[in-house]
Amino acid sequence: MINYTERISLLMEDIVSRVPTLSFIDMSKVLVFARGGRTQAEGAYATCHCVCLPPSEPGYYFWRDRKTNRLTRRSEWFVTRSPRVSIGSRDIDYMVSFALPRFCDQRLSQSRKSAHYLGEPNWIAKLDTIVHELYHIDPARPGIRRMERADGTYSANCHGQRFFEDVVAMVKQYLATAPDPETYEFLQHSFDELTSRFGGIVGTTFRSFPSYPQRYAEVLDPQPAAPEEMASCRVEPLKAPKVPTRFTEDDLVIREFLPKTSRTLVRKGKFCAA
Ligand SMILES: [Zn+2]
Repeated sequence: MINYTERISLLMEDIVSRVPTLSFIDMSKVLVFARGGRTQAEGAYATCHCVCLPPSEPGYYFWRDRKTNRLTRRSEWFVTRSPRVSIGSRDIDYMVSFALPRFCDQRLSQSRKSAHYLGEPNWIAKLDTIVHELYHIDPARPGIRRMERADGTYSANCHGQRFFEDVVAMVKQYLATAPDPETYEFLQHSFDELTSRFGGIVGTTFRSFPSYPQRYAEVLDPQPAAPEEMASCRVEPLKAPKVPTRFTEDDLVIREFLPKTSRTLVRKGKFCAA
């Protein structure tokens, strides 16, 4: 079987070693994992998740009476925090998820990327997506890269024309360094082609599949004083679902991806993830 997320990790290591803009990325702090996503269904091919953001400023929810516009209730004070993800002694700062099998079947000819890659083969769209996700990692502070506008202010939207163009330039820059084709060869095949060639496609997922580590709300203890205008409001307990907040390598499993479903692999002799 082919371990698709492992192949992507190795390719990312090669990319960050060859593309100067991305050379600040420490791949030992980036975890690649797989999510489910059918080829024919709508949805993202990949997503960059930051798990090193500091806690948010304390806040609360509040409700107003529709007629009088008066504040009636508020929630307890809370902050939102990043989960902690670590592999052995290493803390993970970013995770990049890939939707399988959808990503394996991404094609240049179906996307708006095609204008940037005239005459290039279909699989270049996948390399573009991989570089795109790495480019989301902010070099200056924990979080998702903010794009500077021409006037020097920052755009709230992390995508923009320049973002896409920068990615295209980095894809071309990477290929111009003549990387070993073995490193990216797996991108040249569709999900079906890889399945028949390797006997199956597996990837790293969280044991809690389809869920994965996400930011969560935590009630402040002790609670700060009530804001003045809310002194007489009723305080409601925060309805925050109990979620795991700490993840280690013990929470990772190898999962096999099939065209319409997926299953956890129990590692036995006959399964050898390559
Ligand atoms: Zn993006």
